[in-house]
Amino acid sequence: MKILFAAAEAYPLIKTGGLGDIASGLPSALASLGASVCLLLPAYPEAKAKAKATGKSIALSNPLGAGEASLIEASMPDSGVNVLLVDCKTLYERPGTPYGDTDGHGWPDNHLRFALLSFAAAMISAGGAFGFRPDILHVNDWHTGLAPLYLKKSKKARPPSVFAIHNLHYQGIFEPNLLRSIGLDSHDFTIGGVEYHGKISFMKAGIQYADRITTVSRTYAREILRPETGEGLHGLLGARVNVLRGILNGADYKLWNPDQDEAIAAKYSATRLGGKAKCKLALQRQMGLAERSDAPLLGLISRFADQKGIGILLGALDGLFALGCQLVVLGSGEPWFEAALRSAAKDFPKQAAAVIGYDEELAHRIQAGADMLLVPSLFEPCGLTQLYALKYGTLPVVRRTGGLADTVVDFQEGAAGTGIVFGEAASAGLLFAVKRGIELYRRPSDWRRVQKNAMKQDFGWQTAANEYMSLYNEMLREKA
Ligand code: ADP
Repeated sequence: MKILFAAAEAYPLIKTGGLGDIASGLPSALASLGASVCLLLPAYPEAKAKAKATGKSIALSNPLGAGEASLIEASMPDSGVNVLLVDCKTLYERPGTPYGDTDGHGWPDNHLRFALLSFAAAMISAGGAFGFRPDILHVNDWHTGLAPLYLKKSKKARPPSVFAIHNLHYQGIFEPNLLRSIGLDSHDFTIGGVEYHGKISFMKAGIQYADRITTVSRTYAREILRPETGEGLHGLLGARVNVLRGILNGADYKLWNPDQDEAIAAKYSATRLGGKAKCKLALQRQMGLAERSDAPLLGLISRFADQKGIGILLGALDGLFALGCQLVVLGSGEPWFEAALRSAAKDFPKQAAAVIGYDEELAHRIQAGADMLLVPSLFEPCGLTQLYALKYGTLPVVRRTGGLADTVVDFQEGAAGTGIVFGEAASAGLLFAVKRGIELYRRPSDWRRVQKNAMKQDFGWQTAANEYMSLYNEMLREKA
């Protein structure tokens, strides 16, 4: 089985969030099941520097008139999974993230940058590259949403495609006058095509033209069919519900495992928990917090976007500090969230620390050093930080939504509890959940029991990879 897996980011080449983890973990898990997987990514400078290039490349015929482009053959530095990088200096060679400049403004030519990625995915699917001709095209989120449409337009025999929705909120909406620049015309700009309230929607293209649609948890697969959580696309998704499936993401335990983690102060496991206390002390020291083993230490590692419930956290801060909690936050995003968290850290220097930015190593240290990890999201398609927290024996405090609801069991729901779950999307809900967490924390043997339950959970990629393989096989049987 040959699979072309196209995405806007993949760790360790480049990562801004969960998609980066998934585009590295899933291809590698599929490869270990015997599939031949090739990852397709734009040749951002970081990706070019980190991927192991074979020295071979193929010139592309400037398909969208965006500038000279080529495909670079390479492999992943860790897993060895094959990689193709779409090189186009005018589009990808610039500082910043895959999506915007260093100040967080989206690139004005994102329509072209991701149209070219999608076009390359379709071209390789229809014609092959470096002797690789995929049986399945698996594309991810709006950045690659046009690929199934380009593929449909191609005259050649085409493999079936899967469009995976990692977050329906970000849809890739562009002005209609850009239609021709991305190789589309008025026939595509219809209600049955890419037109969405008078604009072009890359997300809609993926949903409309892929043979199968997946999303990253069962609960989110149901939520996106409802008007209040369907981000305006519930109707279209409802019309395609027979090809929609929720497949829970996995965690890469080669990278996220306290027993093997080189970034943390002391390694530990469910049977040797001693190291966790050392990790807590090291984190308190690094962050300048009071070095108290008895203070419940809360962590948060997140993009600072409305989705992530940062507003809920801000409203709960005074209550959390009054309870004697310490808090370490790591993230960046909306400037007012950054400012509010910075100022809380300034007002409560012994209780709170805020690191604004992106720091992979610190993310591991927070996972290991905190007692509880907060994930108060308003919605969460799957969520990965709570999966890592479970493995690190850091009890996740999550809102009951999307993948959070599917992966954490409240400790008061029975002996199998793994964390703390709350329903109300409000600061009072979070505060009450942490209060319940602290009561548990003050009963060490009960706490340990829940912690061990959490650490025993297996959310490794194997399960998801098997589910994707059976989906691919189903599609191939249909095509035959
Ligand atoms: P999303 O993809 O919506 O941002 P997920 O929970 O699915 O959220 O994935 C977030 C990933 O990004 C995790 O691997 C998390 O550790 C990482 N992450 C988020 N913010 C930061 C940050 N500021 N520094 C380091 N890692 C971060």
